[in-house]
Amino acid sequence: MAEIRIPFAKPSIDEDDIAAVTETLRSGWLTSGPNVRALEAELGAYCGAKYVNAVNSATAAMHLALAAWDIGPGDEVVTTPYTFSATASVIVHVGATPVLADIREGDGNIDPAAVERAITPRTRAIIPVHYAGEPCDMDAIMGIARRHGLKVLEDAAHAVGASYRGRPVGSIGDATAFSFYANKNMTTAEGGALATDDEALSDRVRVLTLHGMTKDAWKRYDAGGSWRYDIVDFGFKDNLPDLGAALGRAQLRKLDRLIEERSRVARRYIANLGGEEHLVLPSFSEESRQAWHLFVVRVRNEQAPAPRDEVIRQLAARGIGTSVHFIPLHFFTAYQRMGRWQKGDFPVAERFFEGAISLPMYPDLASEQVDEVCAALREILHP
Ligand SMILES: *Cc1c(COP(=O)(O)O)cnc(C)c1O
Repeated sequence: MAEIRIPFAKPSIDEDDIAAVTETLRSGWLTSGPNVRALEAELGAYCGAKYVNAVNSATAAMHLALAAWDIGPGDEVVTTPYTFSATASVIVHVGATPVLADIREGDGNIDPAAVERAITPRTRAIIPVHYAGEPCDMDAIMGIARRHGLKVLEDAAHAVGASYRGRPVGSIGDATAFSFYANKNMTTAEGGALATDDEALSDRVRVLTLHGMTKDAWKRYDAGGSWRYDIVDFGFKDNLPDLGAALGRAQLRKLDRLIEERSRVARRYIANLGGEEHLVLPSFSEESRQAWHLFVVRVRNEQAPAPRDEVIRQLAARGIGTSVHFIPLHFFTAYQRMGRWQKGDFPVAERFFEGAISLPMYPDLASEQVDEVCAALREILHP
């Protein structure tokens, strides 16, 4: 196996990020404190949400939202099979039942018509996923939710910095979960956040985030705080440390520039591969600002001289890293064991998966490297 010279993802860490983290280390305050509160305020202002709860992952943010809404046994939550497992596993973790609805061919996002068909009297919420950083059809999804009295929890793990019809992601659904995992558009190493305009939701999430301690108990982390606290609920341990929040604040300050660099990479791929008959390419949306977390091309397996798996192998042999987003959830053992789905149930997601390759995509990817990836793809597809 050749050494990978061009990885498929890479965090953008500069001297500002390093200074922010080392300053926090020197401050003596490592866990949740002033940097977490500041990140919450700054992210709320950035994404147009009144309340932000910083937590230790997007998975935790989604789990906490469902728990705070008292979604549990007997309830159903509709989501897409074309996502990372966390989106659906949090539904299982609160004791509710995941119901999957197929995606649209064009952009890999959940199909509102399929959502509508999946709704039953037990449905409580919808979790759309903004695949690759392209916002879902939120007007249609919010319309369905309002008609049926459902909550909308956006999985915006790929979409911090995106906007839909002029509205930033974070200001649209009832709650929005962001991921700050190492290779996401901005990072706190591990981390995430829940954005909402619902004060009661944010308050309940805050209590559940830290052991079910009273809101005021957080003050015990301030200098001079009291030892006395109450436990008002059976909570979790999902708080974000200040060390990560300091990194997140430095990353948020440059997020727009990082996304502009991702857009440059996307534009270059599209310009370069535009005429490639064996590939289906993503495109720039007229109505949304995409966060371009991923750049996913699809190999037309029926006609291409090399099918998807072979293209990935040959790219790796040339030192080019790729990935596949996503293996449809109903293909996995744990999901099969639930006995609810079979191969063939979500034909659009399955077809999308069979051709999908996530090409290298990160802000520091040089245009010449994009050209190298494109040249390699053309060679492989035209032997
Ligand atoms: C990365 C990712 C998550 C999980 O994010 P964490 O912060 O690692 O919990 C959830 N959903 C999608 C679509 C993701 O890509």
